Amino acid sequence: MNYDTIVIGGGPAGMIAAGRAAELGAKVLLLEKNAKLGKKLLITGGGRCNITNAEFDVRKMVAKYGPKGKALFGSFSRFGVAETLDFFHAHGLATKVEAEKRAFPQSNKAEDVWKTLVQYLKDGKVTVHYDSPVSGIETTDGKITGIKVGNKILTAKNYIVATGGKSRPETGSTGEGFLWMHALGHKVEEQDAALVPVTTKEKWQKDLSGLSFVNAKLTMFQDNKKIGNKTGKLLFTHFGLSGPLVLNMSKSIRELFTYAPVSLELDLFPELDAVAIDKKVLGVLTGAFNKKIRNNLGDLVPPKMIPTVLELTKIDPEKTCNAVTKTERALLVKQLKSFKLTVTGFLGTDKAITTSGGVSLKEIDFRTMQSKLYKNLYLAGDILDFDRPSGGFSLQICWTTGYLAGENSAKTQ
Ligand SMILES: Cc1cc2nc3c(=O)[nH]c(=O)nc-3n(C[C@H](O)[C@H](O)[C@H](O)COP(=O)(O)OP(=O)(O)OC[C@H]3O[C@@H](n4cnc5c(N)ncnc54)[C@H](O)[C@@H]3O)c2cc1C
Repeated sequence: MNYDTIVIGGGPAGMIAAGRAAELGAKVLLLEKNAKLGKKLLITGGGRCNITNAEFDVRKMVAKYGPKGKALFGSFSRFGVAETLDFFHAHGLATKVEAEKRAFPQSNKAEDVWKTLVQYLKDGKVTVHYDSPVSGIETTDGKITGIKVGNKILTAKNYIVATGGKSRPETGSTGEGFLWMHALGHKVEEQDAALVPVTTKEKWQKDLSGLSFVNAKLTMFQDNKKIGNKTGKLLFTHFGLSGPLVLNMSKSIRELFTYAPVSLELDLFPELDAVAIDKKVLGVLTGAFNKKIRNNLGDLVPPKMIPTVLELTKIDPEKTCNAVTKTERALLVKQLKSFKLTVTGFLGTDKAITTSGGVSLKEIDFRTMQSKLYKNLYLAGDILDFDRPSGGFSLQICWTTGYLAGENSAKTQ
């Protein structure tokens, strides 16, 4: 037996797990099938890495994960948001907190988070084997006895599986871990895309691709009935809608969509009522008086959006601002609070930010991340069956479960 702990999967969960075990004196081997560690970590948060959500109240943090979050109580109390930020700060990574408590590296670079973890592995003298796809796990009498890499069997006292979920398979997350866990007798809940972008029908929406709105309100409708709404950051894409607001609503929209068509209404000024917007529109039109309307709505919407607004309200773009009628002004006001979109579907598991499903939480001891079925097996990260919103909550699961898995694998040699 060459190693104390073998970690399978060099994503954020596996990296922090390997580093923590090594820090406590364990001889650690980290196996990664790619030629590079943390490929997905490098693309998180649009390359900025939303490292966590700065919600320091454990109760409130746990609530963010819905009913399954309860399992995290014990884990967050041991290594939660505060400890995570302390960890990164102690290892030289400065962070900052933005809207909705989203925490990012001060440098805005996911690469700096990646470098911090790579250095942590080096400091602990973790052996990393790249290009090493694990193909199976061997067991005898309720214990893991080895893992297969090519034609070799590698052995250790303890094993940590951190192979991730199934989203963005090009980064290495192809879901083998689920198959192994199922074969070992663990209950694996079916995986499905959890936070997914939404595709929509309207042609005008495609023209807005790339535009984002920090404080938009989106309301869901089914059979002309309002079902619910949320406010947040929305992004127009060539296929439809994305951004935290839509990702966080995607699960509810998908549930509704299985029964009947769903439409969405986008309000660009959720904090203003119609009277206040009318005042704003009037101000803009009066200010530009005898200039063409097509060049002068820039104080209301981004310039790229002006043609869409005029097309939807059927106002002649060549009209001068002083020629806009009262009825047309009312149409403008109505439009700014009500862009109608028809949901046509969702991008698949491969384009999802996270997948729901995974190893059943009931079979894990969340104080240690130890499997309740195999004493020398620990699990961490996206392989676990959590639902989580967008906002740094996925990575926080990786930091918490990875750190605890590493720590406890090292303590129980
Ligand atoms: C585009 C995008 C943006 C995101 N942005 C954010 C964000 O800003 N904030 C946030 O909190 N979350 C974000 N997430 C989610 C976050 O990236 C994941 O929750 C996180 O990467 C999961 O980490 P993990 O270590 O569990 O798994 P992964 O990151 O999936 O890593 C698993 C590793 O295991 C390796 N592996 C798999 N199978 C094997 C095998 N058989 N043998 C050897 N190695 C194997 C893989 O190659 C991979 O390196 C984002 C996700 C995506 C797709």
